[in-house]
Amino acid sequence: MTTMTTRLALFALLGACTPTAPPAAHATAWIADVTTPPITPASPTIADRYRGIATTILAHARADRGAYQKLAVLTDRIGNRIAGSANLDRAIAWAVETMAADGHAAHTEPAMVPHWVRNAEAAELVTPIARPLRMIGLGGSIGTPKGGLTAPVVVVHDWAELDAKQAAVKGAIVLFDVAMPPFDPVRGSGYGTLVEYRTTGAVRAARYGAVAVLMRSVTAHSLRTPHTGAVYYDDAVAKIPGAAVTVEDAMLIARLATTGPVSVHLAMDAQLLPDVLSANVIGELRGAELPDEVVLIGAHLDSWDVGQGAHDDGAGCVVMMQALTTLRALGLHPRRTIRVVLFTTEEYGERGAKQYAKDHAAELGNLVLAVEADSGGFAPRGFSIAKPDPTKPQNLGVAPTERAAARLADLATLLRPLDATRVTTQYGGADIGFLAGVPQVALLTDGRTYFDIHHSEADTLDKVDPEALADDVAAVAVLAYIVADLPERLTSPTR
Ligand SMILES: [Zn+2]
Repeated sequence: MTTMTTRLALFALLGACTPTAPPAAHATAWIADVTTPPITPASPTIADRYRGIATTILAHARADRGAYQKLAVLTDRIGNRIAGSANLDRAIAWAVETMAADGHAAHTEPAMVPHWVRNAEAAELVTPIARPLRMIGLGGSIGTPKGGLTAPVVVVHDWAELDAKQAAVKGAIVLFDVAMPPFDPVRGSGYGTLVEYRTTGAVRAARYGAVAVLMRSVTAHSLRTPHTGAVYYDDAVAKIPGAAVTVEDAMLIARLATTGPVSVHLAMDAQLLPDVLSANVIGELRGAELPDEVVLIGAHLDSWDVGQGAHDDGAGCVVMMQALTTLRALGLHPRRTIRVVLFTTEEYGERGAKQYAKDHAAELGNLVLAVEADSGGFAPRGFSIAKPDPTKPQNLGVAPTERAAARLADLATLLRPLDATRVTTQYGGADIGFLAGVPQVALLTDGRTYFDIHHSEADTLDKVDPEALADDVAAVAVLAYIVADLPERLTSPTR
């Protein structure tokens, strides 16, 4: 695959330093992708043993609005939380206090994170007509020269067209006008393919001498709102600024370009400042018999600097926090420890996850399962087990045996009241992906509308359904409790 080869080559050149880090692994597939067949449950050993307790957890969690109440504080009172921001610091302090107030042992663990600031930014059409464009700089982008730059625009729709037009690209702004198709239940969202243009487009266009890149926002539905996300550089290639424009504005430029020259003025004051100290937040329910063995349930506390980071990934954070609170409130003490980890700075370099994996390297063998929720707070549909991919340094899971996957599918039959019984083998999560050799599972959600608001000003609390969020809590609480309480490990080779 061309894109994979490029990504690999890019990573090989870059090493692990941020901002020139590999594209995030998350979002290669987000929701219950029906192209991947579901796993057939094993005989109902687990379901039969835990049916009563699962019913109790489901009833309690579904009636509880604690997750939504937490999310309301995180989004309305704190707000978006980009790496290096005061808001992220406030969110970290809030998460520790909130978990402690719920009775959990809570603490922080330090991690250094990048500090990129957007500052003022704007873009406008100059030729053939003067008109402002709705834009947003890509996270991690360099700024333009002071006063901005004006250049002709070369519109391309895929990598092949970029290669074919390379002579025209020198000195130009490349617009990647790549459309996201409407959500398709068979093909899924297509995000994994599209996001490559955003993460690697600046490097590939700069190789042909481009002076900047514009991306059509990665969304199938647009009300003229631009969507950001990380751009990555290669130290061996000139760094050029990158911004997303709205779908509508990308289409306007593409239409104008069919009949004559188009030029754009782009001005961005973005800056990358020195790394700053941040922290992962940890909260625990100690295991009654095997406290050193741990089920990790995680999400990322940072967001982009627009909207409220409600679905991405405030929802994941409060789901994990409330799952632990649900079990404590019910007086349930599983054999093993359940540990919530709220990772700092997933969006731009996954620095919290990398630091966690490093600090806890000696105990990874005691992690019996890692679970991540990072596909929005939509209704749960089941779980996906990570298939390790040795070509991706951020996907270090361990292949589950067929037996282990079937046992997870057996467990998931207990989530029939939520319609969350689907178990597939696809991916785990961007943060837990760094936990080498640990079985990894993602919470699958009905994220059909996720990319309408993802990484934009529209990712706000009003898009979150309190009932769906409570169902996510229920699904995670049942999963975490049972895996933590099983006499043997879920992935035990002998069961
Ligand atoms: Zn996310």
